[in-house]
Amino acid sequence: MSLLRFKALEAAMSRPTVKVTPPSTKISDFYGSNVFDKNKMKEFLSKEAYQSVMSSIELGIPVDRTMAEQIAAGLKSWSMGKGVTHYTHWFQPLTGTTAEKHDSFFEPTSDGKAIEKFSGDALVQQEPDASSFPNGGIRSTFEARGYTAWDPSSPAFIMSSGSGLTLCIPTVFVSYTGEALDFKAPLLKALNSLDKAATAVCQYFDKAVTKVNASLGIEQEYFVVDEDLFFARPDLVATGRTLFGHESARNQQLEDHYFGSIPERVYAFMLDFETEALKLGIPLKTRHNEVAPGQFECAPIYEEINLAIDHNQLLMDLMDKVARRHKLKVLLHEKPFAGVNGSGKHNNWSLITNTGKNLLAPGKTPKNNLMFLTFFVNTVKAVYNHADLLRSSIASVNNDHRLGANEAPPAIISIFLGEQLNEVLDEIESSHVVNRKKKDLSGALGLNIPKIPQILLDNTDRNRTSPFAFTGNKFEFRAVGSSANSAAPMTVLNAIVAEQLTIFKQDVDKLVKKGEKKDVAIMKIIRQYIKESKNIRFEGNGYSDEWAQEAAVRGLSNIKTTPKALDVLTAEKTVELYEKQHIFSERELHARHEIFLENYTKKIQIEARIMGDLVTSQIIPAALNYQTKLIENVRGLKDLGMNGALSQSQLEIITEISERVSTIKKAVYEMIEERKKANILTDAREMAIAYDEKVKSYFETIRYHVDKLELIIDDAQWPLPKFRELLFIK
Ligand code: ADP
Ligand code: MG
Repeated sequence: MSLLRFKALEAAMSRPTVKVTPPSTKISDFYGSNVFDKNKMKEFLSKEAYQSVMSSIELGIPVDRTMAEQIAAGLKSWSMGKGVTHYTHWFQPLTGTTAEKHDSFFEPTSDGKAIEKFSGDALVQQEPDASSFPNGGIRSTFEARGYTAWDPSSPAFIMSSGSGLTLCIPTVFVSYTGEALDFKAPLLKALNSLDKAATAVCQYFDKAVTKVNASLGIEQEYFVVDEDLFFARPDLVATGRTLFGHESARNQQLEDHYFGSIPERVYAFMLDFETEALKLGIPLKTRHNEVAPGQFECAPIYEEINLAIDHNQLLMDLMDKVARRHKLKVLLHEKPFAGVNGSGKHNNWSLITNTGKNLLAPGKTPKNNLMFLTFFVNTVKAVYNHADLLRSSIASVNNDHRLGANEAPPAIISIFLGEQLNEVLDEIESSHVVNRKKKDLSGALGLNIPKIPQILLDNTDRNRTSPFAFTGNKFEFRAVGSSANSAAPMTVLNAIVAEQLTIFKQDVDKLVKKGEKKDVAIMKIIRQYIKESKNIRFEGNGYSDEWAQEAAVRGLSNIKTTPKALDVLTAEKTVELYEKQHIFSERELHARHEIFLENYTKKIQIEARIMGDLVTSQIIPAALNYQTKLIENVRGLKDLGMNGALSQSQLEIITEISERVSTIKKAVYEMIEERKKANILTDAREMAIAYDEKVKSYFETIRYHVDKLELIIDDAQWPLPKFRELLFIK
């Protein structure tokens, strides 16, 4: 048997576990060893240069050029001491991955020799050839002018690959006219805006608060498959998911994978990438199996958002690299296998002040509770106001397979608060805000603030069907896709909460001006917001049909696919939101809209092509081969003089194969015709919609019949590794 599938199976089944030994049993011995963190800065920089980096991080201002020279020298000396030869500006273009362009420290001198050099200019700014990154028409390709600029708030780090060590400098990527071409630049702007708005509101309660940071803990789900089996599936290679494959007889129905013991090879892989991640200062803490066979999760301890996202981007890259050593392949796709769960990336978000207080943690005193309620209710209101924008931020070809597919949150944005907090909000809504002279029994400043339990019993993870859940002291945005860059949803979340807090302050100040006491004014506005945003709260089963119906009655959107979910990007309300906070200009929003639409179209186009190719060159030939065998068999029986009844079941299979092959062929032909029609459309949105509604609509039919063929055709002739092989062989 020469089939690639069998060679791959043989290899996968005999693969030994790679032995992994971390540098030390104590993580603290090597944690952050590849990061130019504060301690290393103190060691390698002058006091002046160190101070300059610190204040630039704190105030968000650029580092002075002469200081940059010193910092570059320090960075060079530290990294060369560790064997680094190259450096790169590391950035996050809109392709969704990370980008690097390596330059050597090496520089020839006039006397024919060479020195190692790394200047302040090279640290601060670079000009990669930007023409090949998506820019949505902002920069025509012949200009190709974009530059990367150092983001000192994310420390430089050393990345090792098989062939060497590279110093990576986290940067933003912008066009020469100042427009953002990446995910990081707008995120930093949104965080800055949030800091200002939240700090201003904190001043009502606590004058010591001068800065508010948003924190993020990202849970990362992924699948692991054997590398050879992966490469025997051209659909996995080209699209990250299987376009065909019948469900394995056993998959997740026994519910035995979750928290089960981790397979040996995967365990070694985890240990390996965790060690690399820890060296890079990524505080990975948790690992476990996920619901589906072959599916796992890891999660770091939460960090400041910008860093958490850089770390997650880095982690995804790292996992892919390290998997190679173990002859494994990590699948970060949102839905690599039909019939079993897909993968997400829960974004756990909270707001933390410079005084160390989590603004989303219920407090001990009534005053603290009023502060908690303020931030809590404003977040709910912000999500209510901009639910569509939040939905758009997680829209992608891949995630369309999850949202609303009865396993991940639905495409309807709603918020789960848990019974206790719901009661609290209901109580506030129905009560009067009065300014009593004496404190009432609950001691709640006489404002009728209901008691808020500090430990919210039902608030951990009870309702997994909600896309946006309050989980004790943080909100958890669960609809983010596993392969996504969290900067997109986090830019939206922070921007909408910033806007909402600004409006809140204006509303409260208005009442105070009219003579209302501050706390009473705050309570009145909170009560008003609770009423206004009530429709977004939902505690029930998000997967149910009843919810879809009820949500429609409530006026909540349920936009199921990406091309239409993206419409809101250029809506008036969105433009206003972003322009006011200087996060995006209208031009940038149009550019992004176009890029995301084009990306959608291209991905469906690739899937359609692969589907056509596989059907024509692998599936149908296998089906016909087997059919020929059956025909020979029937003929043989006839030659022996055996009558028709004995060949009846063979004839049935022969017929079924012919019917299915002809249905598949016809569908593939029609799909190609629809592609031709879609390709001549000039409007990016129309093209994306055509790809979604016309081209993609054939996928299901084609797949259905291919999967049926998989069940009847001789296993020895089936060309593609089956689900049971991909999911269970480790
Ligand atoms: P689970 O959601 O599976 O119950 P955890 O509650 O342990 O898991 O938290 C998941 C993620 O949320 C982790 O990355 C954790 O660090 C992060 N997290 C915990 N508290 C906060 C917080 N206040 N703000 C942001 N993230 C948080
Ligand atoms: Mg969680």
